[in-house]
Amino acid sequence: MLRVADHFEKTDTGRQRRANEDSLFARSPVFVVADGMGGAQAGEVASRIAVEAFEPGLPAGGSGEERLAAVARLANQRIHDLATDDAARTGMGTTLTAALVDAGGVSLAHVGDSRAYRLRDGGLERLTNDHSLVGELVRRGKLTEAEAEEHPQKSVITRALGVEAGVEVDTITVPARAGDVFLLCSDGLTSMIGDDLVGEILHTSKTLSEAGHRLVDEANAHGGRDNITVVIFRLEDLPEGETALPPPVEPPADQVTMLGAAAPNTADVNAALRSRERDASAAAQATPAAAQASARHQPRRPRRRGGAPEASRPRRRIRGLRPLLGVLAVVVVIGVAGWMVSRAVFFVGADQAGFVTVYRGLPYEGPFGAKLYESYYISGVPAADLPVARRSKLLDHQLRGHSDASDLVRKIELDQLDAR
Ligand code: MG
Repeated sequence: MLRVADHFEKTDTGRQRRANEDSLFARSPVFVVADGMGGAQAGEVASRIAVEAFEPGLPAGGSGEERLAAVARLANQRIHDLATDDAARTGMGTTLTAALVDAGGVSLAHVGDSRAYRLRDGGLERLTNDHSLVGELVRRGKLTEAEAEEHPQKSVITRALGVEAGVEVDTITVPARAGDVFLLCSDGLTSMIGDDLVGEILHTSKTLSEAGHRLVDEANAHGGRDNITVVIFRLEDLPEGETALPPPVEPPADQVTMLGAAAPNTADVNAALRSRERDASAAAQATPAAAQASARHQPRRPRRRGGAPEASRPRRRIRGLRPLLGVLAVVVVIGVAGWMVSRAVFFVGADQAGFVTVYRGLPYEGPFGAKLYESYYISGVPAADLPVARRSKLLDHQLRGHSDASDLVRKIELDQLDAR
């Protein structure tokens, strides 16, 4: 049984665009990248509608491919309806590459030239075909991959969500196993760096976060001509007996609930207790004197300073460790809870280059200057462009939810701030 062990996602405006028309969605086990197109910032609207279609969850029933494709068609309809009703948004559309991890592997639904890759044993494999002019020419043997890289019309796509009333969605389910790393990305990455470098970065990075940052940095270093979005996730086997209590430390029940961990069922608890009884019995047999004392239910001998009976020392030592283990458990639980909270909160500020940025985490630095936040979305809007009277209020690092922070920055990008 597989599950998503870790994921990382990042979108960046790049070096040359003023706004970011890419959108992403990452809520395990569903991951989505969309790259919008259309004048007057309609591309942002289109890609946003596409990823928001995944917010309520996938429809029940059907295969992974069918469920993803159903959402893709729903998004197509919504974008097309809006484009038809609003002259300013005529012709808007978006690419879509969506992935679902389930028991059958990783299902993909795909329209346009965003891509999905799988890294396995150090080798990178592209899982999607670009629905682009050059992509079609490469598949027909009229262009080589190298020629396609340099083609002046390489950004022309032949299929997108929202452009027509109906859309053909490519779907595929690829086998997956523990250790596989999947990457979804917009063409702002793959038009700047080749598959070899993408594979090398994924393979040599120690964490997904490191890989994601390096990919975006490399795309920018190679020109950053387009918005860059990466969504990366790694798979692992579901550990057997994961829900059993980890002896000997048990976090309080309310903290288990807070962390969203599955509560152990009665059978697991009983099994853990039986296991502990067996351990205690084995330990007693290993110290015959203690076993005999226990069997006779002898009262504990008076303890003399510095002269405790030999047989009681190991047990006292274990008892002495209990408070320490308890404190350690609380520290671990608080640390994990703090980390999870920091992943769920966002704030808006300006990055070092002066661009309005959404940060994920808490706006503080920890010991040794360790930042408790990371840049999540860098807009193309210089903070200096904000109205002076409102600048400090907009960039006040107030903690926000994901949609709240994203909405604020999108309004800033679209120059749609309320006149307050
Ligand atoms: Mg693009």
